[in-house]
Amino acid sequence: MPVRQWDPASKAKVVLEGLQGKPEKAICKRHNIKPAEYRRWRKEFLARIAGPSVSPRRPSRQGDERSKALRVAQDLIEVLPIPVFFKARDGKHLGANRAWEAYFGVRRESFIGKTVEELFSQAPEVAAKHRAVDEELWRNPGTRSYELQVPVRDGSVRHTLNYKATFTGADGKVAGLIGTIIDITERKRSEQRQAIEHRVTRLLSECETVAGAMPGVLAAFCESLGWACGARWSMDPKIGAFRCEEAWSVDDPDIATFLAASRQSNYQPGYAGFIRRVLGTGQPIWIVDVSADDSFLRGAQAAKAGLRSAFALPIRLGDQVLGAMEFFHRERRLPDEWLLETGVTIGNQIGHFMARVQAEGELREGEARFRSLTALSSDWYWEQDEQFRLTAMSSRFVERTGIDPAPYIGRKRWEQPALNLTESDWERHRAQLERHEPFFDFEIERPGPDGTSVWLSLSGEAVFDEGRRFRGYRGVGTDVTDRKRAQGVLRAAYEELARSNAELQQFAYVASHDLQEPLRMIGSYTQLLERRYGDRLDQDAREFMGFIVDGATRMKQLIEDLLAYSRVGTRGKEMRPVQAQAVLDKALVNLRAAVEQSAAAVTHESLPEVNADDTQLAQLLQNLVGNAIKFRKKDEAPRIHVGVEDAGDEWHFSVADNGIGIEPQYFERIFLVFQRLHTQDEYPGTGIGLAICRKVVERHRGRIWVESAYGEGSTFHFTLPKIQKGET
Ligand code: ADP
Repeated sequence: MPVRQWDPASKAKVVLEGLQGKPEKAICKRHNIKPAEYRRWRKEFLARIAGPSVSPRRPSRQGDERSKALRVAQDLIEVLPIPVFFKARDGKHLGANRAWEAYFGVRRESFIGKTVEELFSQAPEVAAKHRAVDEELWRNPGTRSYELQVPVRDGSVRHTLNYKATFTGADGKVAGLIGTIIDITERKRSEQRQAIEHRVTRLLSECETVAGAMPGVLAAFCESLGWACGARWSMDPKIGAFRCEEAWSVDDPDIATFLAASRQSNYQPGYAGFIRRVLGTGQPIWIVDVSADDSFLRGAQAAKAGLRSAFALPIRLGDQVLGAMEFFHRERRLPDEWLLETGVTIGNQIGHFMARVQAEGELREGEARFRSLTALSSDWYWEQDEQFRLTAMSSRFVERTGIDPAPYIGRKRWEQPALNLTESDWERHRAQLERHEPFFDFEIERPGPDGTSVWLSLSGEAVFDEGRRFRGYRGVGTDVTDRKRAQGVLRAAYEELARSNAELQQFAYVASHDLQEPLRMIGSYTQLLERRYGDRLDQDAREFMGFIVDGATRMKQLIEDLLAYSRVGTRGKEMRPVQAQAVLDKALVNLRAAVEQSAAAVTHESLPEVNADDTQLAQLLQNLVGNAIKFRKKDEAPRIHVGVEDAGDEWHFSVADNGIGIEPQYFERIFLVFQRLHTQDEYPGTGIGLAICRKVVERHRGRIWVESAYGEGSTFHFTLPKIQKGET
């Protein structure tokens, strides 16, 4: 490879690349030169351009060469698109190129010979920084680079990367410096924007409430961009008022006071104002000087706090304005499109966050409602997929049943042991699921944790997605073990009761039936004894025999009553519709003798048709009316009324009398077998009548009870169910 010949112009171009900011290493690599060589070129270049521009010399042969290189360098610098300037050792500007003029908006002529303090008279801190770097270079000649924000021609602030390099004069001493300025505003801004967005995104994802996230968001914005404070304003659409919710500021008591004042009051609509306009229009607003803007009502307060410029922008969700953010700067800042754009983007991010928080809140509420309903109506919640495999089971399952759900997950219900279900039971259940039908209280007996079994009752319904595609089942479950156990105990007790009842009835029937024969024998042999040996017996013996006959007769009566009683259950006829009126008439015919003898007045309402065993109904009415006659007062003719009332599902019958009445403590007892309140002499009877009445009424699915005022009469009530439609 032929060695390249470097003429002065080419060398100057290479050096300028370096002055534009390209790293030394990259330049050397690109042009295939050694770093030492490059540095020597740069030194020569800087020495050349510095010398003649300050004091042009008479051309010589050597000078010809030098001035040629110099002209090339100067021409190149002039057309270079980046600002380049020269400074003398005393800090005064020697010159600058066209790009520099354009960048700062300052004419070169007016600037040559001036210092950096004069150039940046509006921004002393910028001048100070430049000056500090210069001083450093005078002390340690060489190159320096640094970033700085500087105000430029249009008043805006730009991010710059400044390169400075010293050059030496003919005497070999440092004569001044050459500087270039690279505008890195775009890069800086995109970095800043990324950093802010990143911080805001993280904050929003970590916080659950807007109030929790906002101070951090405001801080991110202010800190990254150098603004002093910020606040969020919310809008209450119901009352149209808005107020300052959260705020952030640099550590400054005056600003804190200003923000506290902002937060204190509610702002009503109708107020002109900064925030009001943003909320109304949904557009950002910029105020260059808060104290000079009439539309800013808090202007004076803000100025007092040392704030100068402000802007506000909307927090939006689509077309909806949910609130606003405002920011203040301590220095004068001109409207910055980029800043507003960045702010609006963040405002939108917050808007989405607010919508999400609200939606999540609603979702949470919905879920809580669902959970409490599930908890109230059942023990746990479950889900299964379209293959009927269990995919989820709420934790209450194990809490309630003690069964580990792990073996059930991923399996079908019938793949786990169920003690109560047969293959065909499962078949039916599966068919139901395949038809996507809901199911209710499907009971499964599962082996429990301690060897006992646990009864589950499951209900579920099919789940479909938006496209009506079947997605599986979901439902609830309840532990019904206790209920099942109780049912088992109850059933056993009931069966036992039914068995002993049947036994008892059989016993009563057999006993009474079989007892009649020996009784008859006692009776007839006593009579035989009397007939044959009567004349040989003395008075006492005859009296004793009378007792035997009496006893036998009474015993016969008791046995007959017992037999009648046991027959109510065992020998009853089928129920069929009967006219209760006709049955009562028949009973009254049977009672005719007693009625006449006691001069009883029996009245009645017209009785309805009922579903009954007519013989037993007659027995019931006859017993009640018979008792009403029997237990009459000695000095008063009995008045008896048989009534009936429509009581909805049933008929309510009553038999009222004006007899001796019953004391309340006997209201229950009189319905028991052989329970009576009087001696045989006072009122004859065995005490079986009401027991039979009760048995008859109960067999007819009714109730019987008594109401009475002692000494004033009694009313016996009983109910009979009405004939149901379709019952004939
Ligand atoms: P009995 O009539 O054979 O004594 P019941 O079983 O019919 O047996 O009646 C039981 C008891 O209830 C009667 O002994 C009587 O004391 C009381 N009793 C029943 N009906 C009446 C009534 N209408 N008035 C007063 N007491 C009654």
